Amino acid sequence: MGIRTGQQYLNELDGAARDLWIDGEKVEGKITEHPAFRNIAQSVAHLYDMQHDPHLQPDMTYRSPSTGNLVGLSFMQPHTKEDLARRRTMMQHWARYAHGMMGRAPDYLNSELMAIAAAAPFFSTENSRYSDNVRKYYEYVRENDLCLTHTLILPQANRGVSAAQQADPYLAARVVEKTSEGVIIRGARMLATLPLADEILVFPSTVIRNTEEDRPYAFAFALPLSTPGLRLICRETFDYGKSHFDHPLGSRFEEMDAVVVFHDVLVPWERIFVLEDGDRCNKLYAETDATPHMTHQVIAKNVAKAEFILGVTSLIVDTIGIEQFQHVQEKVAEVVIALETMKAFLVASEANAKLNQWGIMTPDWTPLNVARNTFPKVYPRLVEIVQQLAAGGLMAIPSERDFNNPELRPDIDRFYQAKNTSAVDRTRLFRLAWDAAISTFGNRQVLYERFFFGDPVRMAGALYHSYNKEPAKQLIRDLLNETPDPLLGREG
Ligand SMILES: Cc1cc2nc3c(=O)[nH]c(=O)nc-3n(C[C@H](O)[C@H](O)[C@H](O)COP(=O)(O)OP(=O)(O)OC[C@H]3O[C@@H](n4cnc5c(N)ncnc54)[C@H](O)[C@@H]3O)c2cc1C
Repeated sequence: MGIRTGQQYLNELDGAARDLWIDGEKVEGKITEHPAFRNIAQSVAHLYDMQHDPHLQPDMTYRSPSTGNLVGLSFMQPHTKEDLARRRTMMQHWARYAHGMMGRAPDYLNSELMAIAAAAPFFSTENSRYSDNVRKYYEYVRENDLCLTHTLILPQANRGVSAAQQADPYLAARVVEKTSEGVIIRGARMLATLPLADEILVFPSTVIRNTEEDRPYAFAFALPLSTPGLRLICRETFDYGKSHFDHPLGSRFEEMDAVVVFHDVLVPWERIFVLEDGDRCNKLYAETDATPHMTHQVIAKNVAKAEFILGVTSLIVDTIGIEQFQHVQEKVAEVVIALETMKAFLVASEANAKLNQWGIMTPDWTPLNVARNTFPKVYPRLVEIVQQLAAGGLMAIPSERDFNNPELRPDIDRFYQAKNTSAVDRTRLFRLAWDAAISTFGNRQVLYERFFFGDPVRMAGALYHSYNKEPAKQLIRDLLNETPDPLLGREG
């Protein structure tokens, strides 16, 4: 089949009813028409349509090595640095469409799947066909151009103990039984963004103790989101059903997050990649190099997000005439620094890329690791800068209905104009700034950037432990050794 159109994605979504709950109600009928989901469904559909745009298609697709069909370029296994640059170009097209506001654009998890499929031998055990499962699943997703989400984290009940030690042993998703058809899973995982994906990867995250009691919690598998017994419990929507004028980001890119509950879900054997193997779970990301490829996509997205903030802040500066103030220049410069830093991390990761043990050109992990530790701190600051520069103007944002009211309109046109823009243009810009910096949608973006890649505290710990500090320590030892020992009068 190869690349899908947006309409194909929408049709398949409506055809794959899922046990999806929001605000106390089960979603019945067409998901693509539900007020909480119709807009994000259209945005995902737009991503798929971009692959068919004749101007973008050469950047966004390649020929499938198995069928010759055009398939999405984020599935391409890179063997050269040029391949990596092509992957980045493709990712930037999707990232720029959503201005970095869609965390589950399909290229994020396509990148993971691409990397784990190349590392398929890692999944083989003495008597299983898990490596074949990984390879075949990658090809299935690539050839059908599916959209994936993933769920990694156990419910946030008691973080002081492991999954097995929770008061309820069936709180965290675990193996209950193995049958001739597959594995039965019961319990929950805490979050999956974009419950409108086609399929879900249920993968390990934090370190799993490799003990007998933890084995039932140690697995990796994939399922359609329409699988019987799989329930998605959404938070309330941050798309309030307003127009693009009123809610420019939330009415387009509200991806939704859901808790995933497994009510004795059957996972067929061919969808199992790791089973009851804590050691393999703990090594999965490092040994397959999935994380550098996922982070490569994430930083491409973050460049788009920083560009977005630079555009918004720079236009605010022009619109209300605050350019001459030095602290304003300093704040916009801070945005520029964030943007250029992210770009530099991307370039560095590609420049120092190397072939890994599976023959895949892998971006250098150190700049990407530093980037993923930087952005969770930088993005909240960028949003703060929007607030600091737009100030009270963020509260002077009439709605579309205000503009449409003939009695109000003259006042709005007069009192909401700005230095060199009309009231309507100023409002359009300030509503965009509000949606990035004040609205629930904007605040969820901040929380997302703080946490979606994991707990920043533990990510910093991982950077501390993985970074080779020895050369720097040696430089200092050499310097110290040049200083004579005061007692002995000789160099130490
Ligand atoms: C908007 C959003 C979207 C998300 N989307 C997804 C998704 O699609 N798929 C998915 O799998 N996950 C998703 N996540 C979850 C994300 O991976 C987690 O939020 C992240 O890993 C942190 O885990 P937690 O939220 O359970 O926090 P917790 O681990 O419960 O941490 C809570 C607090 O306790 C501290 N803490 C807890 N344990 C330790 C420890 N061992 N050492 C030190 N400090 C500790 C943390 O530092 C933090 O301050 C999403 C999260 C958000 C906010």
